[in-house]
Amino acid sequence: MSRNTELQNTFTLPALALRGLVMFPGMLLQFDVGRKKSVEALESAMQSDQLIFLVAQKNLGDNDPDGSQIYKTGVVAKIRQIIRRSDEGIRLFAEGLYRAEVISVAKTEPYLLTELCRVETAPYRKTTRSEALIRYTQSLFEEYIQNYSHIPPDIVIGVIQKKDCGELADYIAANLSLDYTEKQKILEELNPVRRLQKLSMVLKKEIQILALEAKISQRAKEQIDENQKEYFLREQMRAISEELGENDSPQQDADDLKARIKKAKLPPLQEEKLLKECDRLMKMPEGSHEASVIESYIDTCLELPWNKSTKDRINLKRAKRILDRDHYGLTKVKERILEVLAVRKLSPDISGQIICLVGPPGVGKTSIAHSIAEALGRKYVRVSLGGVRDESDIVGHRRTYIGSMPGRIIAALKQAGTNNPLILLDEIDKMGSNFRGDPSSALLEVLDPDQNKSFYDHYIDMPFDLSNVMFLTTANDASEIPEPLYDRMDVITLGSYTHEEKYHIAAEHLIPKQLKKHGITPKMLKITPAAIHKLIDAYTREAGVRNLERQIAAICRKCAKVFVEDKNAKITVTPEKLRELLGPEKYKDETANKHDMVGLVNGLAWTSVGGMMLPIEVAVMDGTGKIELTGSLGDVMKESAKTAISCIRTRASALGISHDFYTKYDIHIHAPEGAVPKDGPSAGTAMATAITSALCNIPIRHDVAMTGEITLLGRVLPIGGLKEKSMAAYRNGIKTVIIPADNEPDLEEIDSVVKDHVHFEPVERIDQVLKIALTRVPTPMCSEKEAEPRTVPTVPKVPVQTPEHKPTEQSSVIPQ
Ligand code: ADP
Repeated sequence: MSRNTELQNTFTLPALALRGLVMFPGMLLQFDVGRKKSVEALESAMQSDQLIFLVAQKNLGDNDPDGSQIYKTGVVAKIRQIIRRSDEGIRLFAEGLYRAEVISVAKTEPYLLTELCRVETAPYRKTTRSEALIRYTQSLFEEYIQNYSHIPPDIVIGVIQKKDCGELADYIAANLSLDYTEKQKILEELNPVRRLQKLSMVLKKEIQILALEAKISQRAKEQIDENQKEYFLREQMRAISEELGENDSPQQDADDLKARIKKAKLPPLQEEKLLKECDRLMKMPEGSHEASVIESYIDTCLELPWNKSTKDRINLKRAKRILDRDHYGLTKVKERILEVLAVRKLSPDISGQIICLVGPPGVGKTSIAHSIAEALGRKYVRVSLGGVRDESDIVGHRRTYIGSMPGRIIAALKQAGTNNPLILLDEIDKMGSNFRGDPSSALLEVLDPDQNKSFYDHYIDMPFDLSNVMFLTTANDASEIPEPLYDRMDVITLGSYTHEEKYHIAAEHLIPKQLKKHGITPKMLKITPAAIHKLIDAYTREAGVRNLERQIAAICRKCAKVFVEDKNAKITVTPEKLRELLGPEKYKDETANKHDMVGLVNGLAWTSVGGMMLPIEVAVMDGTGKIELTGSLGDVMKESAKTAISCIRTRASALGISHDFYTKYDIHIHAPEGAVPKDGPSAGTAMATAITSALCNIPIRHDVAMTGEITLLGRVLPIGGLKEKSMAAYRNGIKTVIIPADNEPDLEEIDSVVKDHVHFEPVERIDQVLKIALTRVPTPMCSEKEAEPRTVPTVPKVPVQTPEHKPTEQSSVIPQ
């Protein structure tokens, strides 16, 4: 390497090997000297001109470097101060004077004595390039101190003041914490511009490293901050949980949950899904809303009976015994149910056998379903569908909804705890639909054996097998059941109870049941047969026995009070005592009007809560032929009234009625219980009879009731609900019920008690009706002239008595 140096006179100086340090000319250095050889060198220097050669040793680990282990270039320094310390060490303050090179090592003991020559660096000549280099280096330095802020301000000022490339390089190198090998290279560079270039490169590299370091440290800091925050919060949570007595750790929770999932032995697809959810849960911050949603989802899924079931025990004898034990009568219903069970026994996989129990409220539909479940040894769950309007009631809400839940079917299975319970879908006819979808179509999916193998609830979000579930449905009115559902059902009809049946049910079932429920023994409380009869007649009016049961419960409650006060009390409930316990009678003797009256007829109506009497009144007044229809009559009933009038007009002379009565008189037809809507065609014969009676002024027999649609030509057409209607007639003390001849086969269905007390008159034409219902046969008119002076029939003289019937729970009366 050619060097622009001028060899001067050589001189010898004690040398001090620096470990990891490089001295620069103009630099003030302070360091501790501990090595014996170094102390000796110092002592020697102090004794002469206080000059010492400071040179870096090549290898940091070398404790006693000789001439070959030190760099060639070092700096001759002036010792400014030494401080001796108690531990034999010396603190040295020295100032770098100029560069020198080792020519040879004169001796190594007791210290290194080196023969040196001063190296002169090339003189600096200011150029634009060197000026630019200076500025560039200064800006780098500025950048450097931004990242490395421990640099005292006077050094910064020194950097700004230096105008010589070489000096600036030395100054910066002296004041930066660089690797000593890098510093040594700068020291060895004698060309000022190249020296500064080298330095700037080192500086640039250093800045990059520092920037990277800062980035890494920032990230690490953030991480630590985050970890610390989390740690802090977790510690807090743990403290809170411990305070609350819940000391499970979240990890523990997740592990427990996974163990539970595995233990539940779900089908593979479902297990995989839940484990995935569990993993998601572990990643969520504990206590977050989403975490709790997932947690309750997993809980719900695990609570479902994926593979828990009860064993079916279809034993017809046992089933019959249970049905008979719990229910009086209902022979045909029980028979049908046993048939269905028999089929199930022979062919367990038979599909589509969904029983639908149809009947008025309180006739035992729910309790029959309960008994079937018991007979089969299945769990029983009732799902009420009354008022369900939303599809999601059946199939659940997606989990994205706040407060989402599984649908009623899944909820029922959860409640049952087995996957083959008997689920009673109660009041299937009371379902509605709205803009959010039709629940009946969702229900179709539930009931359809082809689809329910993989029933999909939106909340559970995976298929559940419903094919083992036995579904039973109930309805009050079969006609209200959505058509597609109806098609899939095996309808079993339960009719209203007769008085006698109610009596037996009360005496044999309801009273013992209620006594037991209230903790009363039969010895303490007796209800006499007469009281039961009175209870049925005067305190309830219903197709079933629900109110009757309620009244019996009320009696038990009242008596319970007495028994608490007096342990030995014994109560016998007689008809008189009833008044004391339940207050005055709610219903008077239901018997229809006791007198034959003009214009008042006993119609019969059918409602979803049973049959009932539908009295119809007709008044004829002088007028202009107006027809007035009141009593909340529906369109069909209004039309049927008009048909009745036209029909009478066609046979006016045969009935002895003036042929132009429809222009001279106003006819007012009214059905009492005006606020209750009524509709249907089955009051046709009743209206025709009442109009004829009013026009002819002939009273109608009070013990006759009738039902039947009428046509213009006077034919009587069949109607529905005969069983219920005849029951109502029987209850009201009617002796004769006029029915359409086409309904004669329905008489088979009618209860024998009713048949014993009521005489049925099948008719084909209105003339037969009039013959039976009117107290006398109308005298046909000989000629128009004779008929003319006929007195205007007036409103009946006897005050109109409406039979005291109270429609119980129905909203509309439908004479069909
Ligand atoms: P529904 O479901 O038809 O409205 P429930 O099954 O709720 O009627 O019956 C009401 C009450 O009447 C129940 O306590 C039930 O046990 C009782 N009940 C109804 N019919 C009978 C019957 N034939 N024998 C014994 N108890 C009956």
